[in-house]
Amino acid sequence: MGADFIFDICAVPGVSGDEFEAECKKFVDGLSKEAVWDYLENIQGGFMNTPGASDEENLAYAKKEMLESLVEAEKALQGNRRDLTVLTLNGADYFLTGGMSWGDDPTDAYQYVHRLAYSGVDILGLANNVRADSENEFRLEKDNMWVTVGSISVCIRKTDEGAVVDMYRKGEEDLDKAQLASCYAFFAEAEVFYNCRNCGCRAFPHSDAHFAVDGRVLCPECDSTEVEKEG
Ligand SMILES: [Zn+2]
Repeated sequence: MGADFIFDICAVPGVSGDEFEAECKKFVDGLSKEAVWDYLENIQGGFMNTPGASDEENLAYAKKEMLESLVEAEKALQGNRRDLTVLTLNGADYFLTGGMSWGDDPTDAYQYVHRLAYSGVDILGLANNVRADSENEFRLEKDNMWVTVGSISVCIRKTDEGAVVDMYRKGEEDLDKAQLASCYAFFAEAEVFYNCRNCGCRAFPHSDAHFAVDGRVLCPECDSTEVEKEG
């Protein structure tokens, strides 16, 4: 017996205040009954059904309770807390807190970070799988990411050889028969090589090239536009 180090980590939400609440409401509304119950069980030891209320009403009350719990957590994590640090990984910010514990929460911030982490709402931070390169462009950092588009769930996967995009009926992502469409491309297919006539640098891949404002390919060594496609 003794104290152990424990910590929790969640993405820093990309929005705060009323905007967080609005986004979070969409997130919670989209959750299954099981996910809401599981959250309330883990975070506050369960949920009391209102006697006489229908299942639907009780689920709505439970979702409201979950939303309030997440909004409270987001609010509590704002400002300069000394029991919390922001960790930046792959361009994404995460709240990190922890310490030595005999079983209780190691810091006051811990329960709030845990709420955001456990709920899965950290997708709001656009943090876990993607990195924003510019306003509308994201780069896949891990192996896959899910995007919900109306009633369709889109999964973008990175494999050793390329990219795969699968689309499913929302809510049935684990059922093969619910798959609506799929396509893939290999990195090798997408790759083009260039030679530079200016400095003599040869066979540099498109992914290494620099680009002029007008989109022309520049040599990565000398930034010359005197480049030609190989082959
Ligand atoms: Zn060159």
